[in-house]
Amino acid sequence: IFFACGIIPQRLIDSDARRLYHGRMSVPAISVQNLVKNYGAFRAVDGISFDVREGDFVAFLGPNGAGKTTLFNAMCGLVKPDSGKFEFEGKERAWPRTDELIDLGISRTLQGVGLFPELTVLENVMIGASKSASSGLISSALGLSGRDEERLKQRSMTALERVYASGIADMRADSLPYPVTKRVAIARALVSEPKILLLDEPAGGLGSSDIEWMNSLIHNLASQCSIILVEHHMDVVMSVCDRLYVLNFGQVIASGGVETVRRDEAVVAAYLGVNN
Ligand code: ATP
Repeated sequence: IFFACGIIPQRLIDSDARRLYHGRMSVPAISVQNLVKNYGAFRAVDGISFDVREGDFVAFLGPNGAGKTTLFNAMCGLVKPDSGKFEFEGKERAWPRTDELIDLGISRTLQGVGLFPELTVLENVMIGASKSASSGLISSALGLSGRDEERLKQRSMTALERVYASGIADMRADSLPYPVTKRVAIARALVSEPKILLLDEPAGGLGSSDIEWMNSLIHNLASQCSIILVEHHMDVVMSVCDRLYVLNFGQVIASGGVETVRRDEAVVAAYLGVNN
């Protein structure tokens, strides 16, 4: 299905490009310390700390219920942490609200694709530029003049090109196969030209060939922005990310490079044993 708009994207960006991009900033882009989130008496996230530097491709991996989505939602304003420190580009600040993300250069996709079915692909992507997504008339919803709307259309087309979907810009979202909607959701996140892209289970619900396609796509995007990925399939993240945090019961049980984590006894026992 993914092939409707092209072949599997080559991993075009070589490691030199990744290295050049990596780490221009001397402080972490995002630093989270001791994040705690309780749902009533249940502690879903139990003191998680991590850093994401400019250019990093970091993945959070863990079995169902490990706390990944709660952690993800805390970073994008959908969950209010009970405690924990959030630093952005070296400065401590309040946890971001959803309407602050674009100004911070953060963009996200969620587990549910959430496209507006009656709108075209292009219109759906344009909505990604809005601080509070709305399916009203695009220009009035975004408060744009005719010229600004034209610019946004161009930016949206560029975002669609980045996910190899410019050829379907005029199709209605409800006519698309599911794997293609996932790509459109990523384009919608890219339209604000984020410095940090948060992806919640981008391969969720995809078959193996579409997962391969998605992995190549994300790998290429990682040369252009920092990526924080949440995923419960180990094979999805192992082939793309630089650094992994493995969660279980709301805590980090292992972290480091892919090979280190793959061999970690706690990971093998708590994760591989359960899911593979
Ligand atoms: P999955 O891969 O299944 O999405 P996850 O690792 O993302 O799992 P979370 O969705 O963060 O895990 O959930 C962590 C724990 O918190 C789970 O036990 C879940 O049932 C619980 N939980 C999540 N959201 C809520 C909520 N709103 N109210 C109560 N408990 C919740």
